[in-house]
Amino acid sequence: MVRIRRGTVVGIVATVLPLVIATLVAAGLFPGGGERLVTLFLIYVVAVIGTSVYSGNSGIISFGNTGFMAIGAYAAGLLTISPIIQKTALPHLPVWLTGWGLPFIPALLVALVVVALVAIAIGIPVARLAGSSASICTLGFLVIVHVVLVASSDFTRGSQTFFGIPRAVNIWMALPFAIVAVAIARIYRDSSAGMKLRASREDEIASTAVGVNVRLHRFLAWVLGAVLSGAAGVLLGHFIGAFSPKDFYFNLTFLLLAMLILGGITTVSGAVIGTAVIMVIVELLRKLEGGVDLGFFSLPTVFGLTDIGIGLAILLVMYRLQDGLLGVREIDEQLPLLKRLAGGKAHSAAKPATTEAASIEGDVLRVENVGKRFSGLVALEDANFEVRPGLVTGLIGPNGAGKSTLINSISGVVPPSTGRVTVGGVDVASLPVHRVPIAGLARTFQNIRLFKNLTALENVTVAASAIARDGADPVDLAREALFEVGLGDVADQLAGTLSYGAQRRLEIARALALKPRYLLLDEPAAGMNPAETMELMAVLDRIRTKYRLGLLVVEHDLKLIMRLCDIVVVLNKGQQIAIGTPAEIQSNPAVIEAYIGRRRSVAKHEPSKTEAPLLNLDPHTSGKTA
Ligand code: ADP
Ligand code: MG
Repeated sequence: MVRIRRGTVVGIVATVLPLVIATLVAAGLFPGGGERLVTLFLIYVVAVIGTSVYSGNSGIISFGNTGFMAIGAYAAGLLTISPIIQKTALPHLPVWLTGWGLPFIPALLVALVVVALVAIAIGIPVARLAGSSASICTLGFLVIVHVVLVASSDFTRGSQTFFGIPRAVNIWMALPFAIVAVAIARIYRDSSAGMKLRASREDEIASTAVGVNVRLHRFLAWVLGAVLSGAAGVLLGHFIGAFSPKDFYFNLTFLLLAMLILGGITTVSGAVIGTAVIMVIVELLRKLEGGVDLGFFSLPTVFGLTDIGIGLAILLVMYRLQDGLLGVREIDEQLPLLKRLAGGKAHSAAKPATTEAASIEGDVLRVENVGKRFSGLVALEDANFEVRPGLVTGLIGPNGAGKSTLINSISGVVPPSTGRVTVGGVDVASLPVHRVPIAGLARTFQNIRLFKNLTALENVTVAASAIARDGADPVDLAREALFEVGLGDVADQLAGTLSYGAQRRLEIARALALKPRYLLLDEPAAGMNPAETMELMAVLDRIRTKYRLGLLVVEHDLKLIMRLCDIVVVLNKGQQIAIGTPAEIQSNPAVIEAYIGRRRSVAKHEPSKTEAPLLNLDPHTSGKTA
């Protein structure tokens, strides 16, 4: 079920209003040329949005959507073409395809089913890929579609013009499609599925760690975008009435990508703005291209002026505005008036947490003989300990001791080479990473991994919606988690713009929204100033008692560890060298040896430093690195 929020509706209205106005003006004042231009604009809007559903939300550029346009155009064209023209134009068509002469809408629906089936088949491999490998794969798809269309001359007339398609699309037909495309794309973008895909675009590892099934969401967006592109192809085919495979090839692909990138790839309103701007540039330059006579001065014909113009426009915009004209937020999230209409600030439903302590007695997190090798290097060997609900377990050791590797192994981000991690007897390592949170484990990262171009609230909502709660709105759960760490006031700010300490706490809120039984924190206080550290300590102490959370905390700040922890595990060079209460650890000879050994070697390099008293180390002298 999709919950449609007020902000989404305001955004859709704000984005389609200019389309409606352009249509009314063109149809009323400029019948003919102007009307045709706006019709083409509306069709391009559908096409650009088709690409943006996948590319904008996943961050993977797709060259393949033009292929879906081609499939849509040809499939629908075969069904709508008049039987008489068909006899002469396509004499070798198989009998089951001849003589349909369907009206536009039924043909469109059949074509969209064909497009969807192809998209599903291609989407299975494409969704497994990320970044440029996925892009190249979509490019390959575009080339294959082109070659197949050219080769299937019985169906398509090969590279010759496929003609006789009824011109069923005018401006009044194109407008509702553009409106529906905007609405679908925007509802998807704001839905929990769209938010999850956007999270994976910002940080794939962190998104899987909060329960996002990245492949699934890439696949869904790919198919949805393909269907929209297919519709754009059907519209274009029935607008121009005659086309050949080259009309759906590189030129169109680059034109559409230029529109998408110029406006801002991550937003629906950006897609519309980019389409409009490029169309204006193309129209102006096309007039100039043919040479202009100004009476006293005449410009010569300049070949390729349009393409050069588009290229320059992109260069200029990207140079000044990396994220396109509109940036990373929708227009209604930027204009104050629209923000107010959409409900504006987070109405702080500062509810006290209603959630029961989630932990069940006996569900201990067990780390059994866990080890990890990276090719030749043994980063970790035979870690053995338990983390109990309501207790804080500290994990200390010099740099490179294997602490992060251990956290990564437990949380499934880097599967262990040996050993087992279980929660209440369930083997966590056998789960796919995105299902580890369901087993009750959540984590933060040593180097902050937030979804920078999502708001603080969205960051946490992604996690909240990973855990199915009967009926509870993930956004409410997310708000609750933000209040828990004292970030209720910055819910609507982009995560990347928050202060360092706030970003660290936001990561904790995001993990908390998974309602974990165990929270693994990799150096949560690293880089914090003393005030921020104090605030963090208070938060950790509160949440562990409130939810009876089991905490596993990696920390360089030994004072903090000694104060916070019930149990301390010490790693050195991949070996677990000690486990015990803070007091026991402080007097453990092996631990002293490990730390003194390191101190000596530090002292050797920095003779000015005197040996500090052991395990009373101030964070600034504890030899920490970034
Ligand atoms: P810590 O967090 O205790 O500082 P790490 O767990 O990050 O230590 O690293 C332990 C050892 O494993 C180091 O020698 C590090 O270089 C190595 N290591 C960590 N991650 C990788 C990796 N992905 N590939 C190869 N070696 C790694
Ligand atoms: Mg580390």
